[in-house]
Amino acid sequence: MTQLDPKLDLNWQSDALDPAFGFFEQTLAVRGGYHRTDEGEHNEAIFATSSYVYKSAADAADHFNGNKKGNVYSRHTNPTVRAFERRLALLENGERCVATASGMGAILTMCLAYLKAGDHLLCAKQLFGSSVALFDTYFKAFGVEVSYVDCFDNDAWAKAMRPNTAVCYLESPSNPLAQIADISAIAKIAHEGGALLIVDNCFATPAIQKPLDLGADVVIHSATKYIDGQGRVLGGALVGSDTLMEKAFGVVRTGGISLSPFNAWVLLKSLETLSLRMKAHSENANRVAEFLNNHPKVTKVHFSGLPSHASHEVAKAQHTALKNVGGGAITGAFGAIIGFEVANQEQAWHIIDSTKMISITNNLGDAKTTITHPATTTHFRMTPEQRVEAGVSDGLIRLSVGLEEVDDIIKDLARGLDGL
Ligand SMILES: *Cc1c(COP(=O)(O)O)cnc(C)c1O
Repeated sequence: MTQLDPKLDLNWQSDALDPAFGFFEQTLAVRGGYHRTDEGEHNEAIFATSSYVYKSAADAADHFNGNKKGNVYSRHTNPTVRAFERRLALLENGERCVATASGMGAILTMCLAYLKAGDHLLCAKQLFGSSVALFDTYFKAFGVEVSYVDCFDNDAWAKAMRPNTAVCYLESPSNPLAQIADISAIAKIAHEGGALLIVDNCFATPAIQKPLDLGADVVIHSATKYIDGQGRVLGGALVGSDTLMEKAFGVVRTGGISLSPFNAWVLLKSLETLSLRMKAHSENANRVAEFLNNHPKVTKVHFSGLPSHASHEVAKAQHTALKNVGGGAITGAFGAIIGFEVANQEQAWHIIDSTKMISITNNLGDAKTTITHPATTTHFRMTPEQRVEAGVSDGLIRLSVGLEEVDDIIKDLARGLDGL
């Protein structure tokens, strides 16, 4: 018989690998958060079970009346999901993590847990499209006020606060223009107004940026992107204090937005290599950005790693976490999403169609480099005026720099660029 974590406790952090014992973050990424069962498995087990058995009728009653903490049903808790949550909480420096079925599941959970009718949700303009659709289409209908400001404009955040602002929400770096929000400054503004600051940390990941350390209250993830990093599964998560996570947990277990044990297992294993991958992604992206920046046909490069980027200093100050990897910092980790512009759509399509290796897809955050023309795909539904407002020109290309040999990535981009 396998013995499950005998003290399955929702506040649990790996006692054997608690940061207080002095382990480095990369060690926690590889070993934290899992309790080996009595079977002695070396690799983490997948608990593919929807429900659990009790020792007796009284034991069952104790699980329901709260005298005992333990698994009841996998919509509520599952050991594999719990291990992923613990490991991600350790990496984000959060007290607790609640996993969800997808990134959008995490954002829906945030709305249901922290907003009610009459509240105001203040958001960055630079958001993932489905987040905007969720807020504008569904939450406005529930009587939540929603408004938007430029993520990098601290004064705009302060001016847009209302007495009923309950949540400030942003992504940094943003997609596809790599705009940077000053998380510490906006956290202060939010807290002065009695609101929570919630940060979607999808593009930086805890390997590069830890929003909770910068003053944010909750971190949101689409684990589908860099946390998986290999394009296999959907998943999401929220990380924060016990009190805030208890609210999120209530929504997930009641609403059924739960992560599947199999996906949790894939993501648990992915966390082991996250920092190493992000380091390699970032180094490749730094090289690709430099190449694009020096190319005569490229009119503009949007990448916060370039000293010419308007938010380079803020990005440098808050993208510090990779110093914990491999015994030394790399010179600047800014993530691996790059926007770059050429003269027009014809040139952009020529560059995309000239690639022989890079994948033409709208996905990102993958070991494989991907290339997208936002104006005709991800941002196609916007009016031309909205696209101008969002900075999405017809000549804009978005690149998610992968883990191939960087010279092959550059060569593939040069095929189209050099022929212009
Ligand atoms: C993809 C994405 C999401 C949504 O995540 P899913 O896992 O696709 O539901 C949310 N935020 C950002 C920044 C994303 O890129």
